Amino acid sequence: MIEERVARLLGETEYNGLGERVTLVAATKTRTPDEINRAIRAGITDIGENRVQEFCDKYSLIDGARRHFIGRLQTNKVKFLIGKTFLIHSVDRDALASELAERSVRAGLTTDILAEINVGDPKKGGYPAGEGLGAVRRLDALAGISVKGVMAMLPLSDDTALLHALARQMRELFERAREAVPTVKYLSMGMSGDFRLCLEEGANMIRLGTALFGERT
Ligand SMILES: *Cc1c(COP(=O)(O)O)cnc(C)c1O
Repeated sequence: MIEERVARLLGETEYNGLGERVTLVAATKTRTPDEINRAIRAGITDIGENRVQEFCDKYSLIDGARRHFIGRLQTNKVKFLIGKTFLIHSVDRDALASELAERSVRAGLTTDILAEINVGDPKKGGYPAGEGLGAVRRLDALAGISVKGVMAMLPLSDDTALLHALARQMRELFERAREAVPTVKYLSMGMSGDFRLCLEEGANMIRLGTALFGERT
């Protein structure tokens, strides 16, 4: 049952290993508005979609959660999200940041974003970890967007020592980013397969799909 999983996971993930409050974002790709509304009634406050089309289709059918965008974002789709998101997690390149910034300025608002950082899988998106701090500083200088933190997806691996090391590296980057840019407050890291170790290492925002809703069909 969705309701039981929501209650159990909200309880289990309230604080990270450093004693900080955690935001649980329900990753809702492929889930119906009905399933998502059930999760919200059971206590979910934040939901995240991966695709702009799905984000827009479900937007008005869902009651009252903060909307996150967590998937790869094409520059030409940015216009559909402006003014509708609480946080965009997946800003992984300067051209995307510029488009978000320009469209936000034109709409007279500020869009909150995270810089997506690539750890452990160079084929995936995101700023290389070594360039993460520079990216956060550069994005922070743009009018129209506000950098609220960093996001990462750990690679799929059975090597827990490696995963802990990568998660710790992300926490260190997050802390340096927070010192450099005072708006930084979120480290978004952790999915159904690895959220416990991410919380241990200091993630304060996690994104769960399967653990809340069951396997995707
Ligand atoms: C699907 C997805 C998640 C959640 O994945 P699960 O393994 O189902 O918990 C988290 N983050 C992103 C970016 C996703 O696309």
